[in-house]
Amino acid sequence: MTSNAESNPDRTPLPRPLGDFLGFTLAGCAPRPDVGALHNGIAWNWRGEGVLQLTPPLATTASPSIVVSAGIHGDETAPIELTSKLVADVCSARVPLTCRLLVILGNVDAMRAATRYVDDDMNRMFGCRFHPLGRSREAPRAAALEQAVEAFYSLAHAERWHFDLHTAIRASEFEKFALLPATGGLAHEPMLEWIRAARLDAVLMHSSPSHTFTHYTASAHGARACTLELGRVRRFGMNDLGAFAVPMRALANQLGGRSEIHAGVALPPVFQVIAQIEKHSDRFEFLVDPDVPNFTAFAAGTLIARDGDYRYEVTHPSERIVFPNPNVKPGLRAGLMVVECDDQAK
Ligand code: ZN
Repeated sequence: MTSNAESNPDRTPLPRPLGDFLGFTLAGCAPRPDVGALHNGIAWNWRGEGVLQLTPPLATTASPSIVVSAGIHGDETAPIELTSKLVADVCSARVPLTCRLLVILGNVDAMRAATRYVDDDMNRMFGCRFHPLGRSREAPRAAALEQAVEAFYSLAHAERWHFDLHTAIRASEFEKFALLPATGGLAHEPMLEWIRAARLDAVLMHSSPSHTFTHYTASAHGARACTLELGRVRRFGMNDLGAFAVPMRALANQLGGRSEIHAGVALPPVFQVIAQIEKHSDRFEFLVDPDVPNFTAFAAGTLIARDGDYRYEVTHPSERIVFPNPNVKPGLRAGLMVVECDDQAK
């Protein structure tokens, strides 16, 4: 299921929470003591189940602070495995680390159950601690992750970043794409530069607030945040992790404070979210094939969904659908509608 414990170059085995972060977390273990230092000077601090802080010897609160999270959806195994491997690579100095780093495996109960979530979609629960979903088994976990991030960023006096790694349930016209939260005045340029380095296929800009993890870190903590969709959902051990090599190299470079030269690499197509399909009740009707790939285009006049008096009809010459899912609970979004920005809007 998980990689074997990795080793330091000097062949001193890494402590198991670091060498096999995923396996250790899934086993429900907690290290005693919960802090330590490696031969290479990296200090590690277990901040709770599936939450690990790594601090290189020369980092201070004036160094960049980066959060890398995966498994907010428990069945999105590739990013979970990659994140666990990233911890081993950083701790064994295969990936240089110059920033403060907080690594998070999100919905651990759902990972154990090999499911997207147990009671509720955790990526609709951030930034709402007093939400009616309070009795959901995901609610205390979302609150614990918020508290871990808040504690981490409270000592971050320089730039803050957050990369939230996902895989999509369905096929997509663009295999690897980033979603940027609506951040008000926060400039997107540094993240767009990273997206170029990661050679992603598309960028999707949100235009209104939501309850995703990245919207929370961007809005509450001023982080440069993005949700990354890196291919399709598979079972643990069934992933071709090599397919993620380029974005993971860009992430590793970010952790090491190294910027790649990517002259001549154009920014991929940028899309703006113009609306979300709203599911109000169990009467909701989805009127197009719910299995279409992400970014499938529909022409003006197409009726996408209706629910009582609510109708969603395409009004732009062409609108594309992303994350169509008529099976969400009433009150949640059943899909996003996006249009491509012209060059000037980028
Ligand atoms: Zn996801």
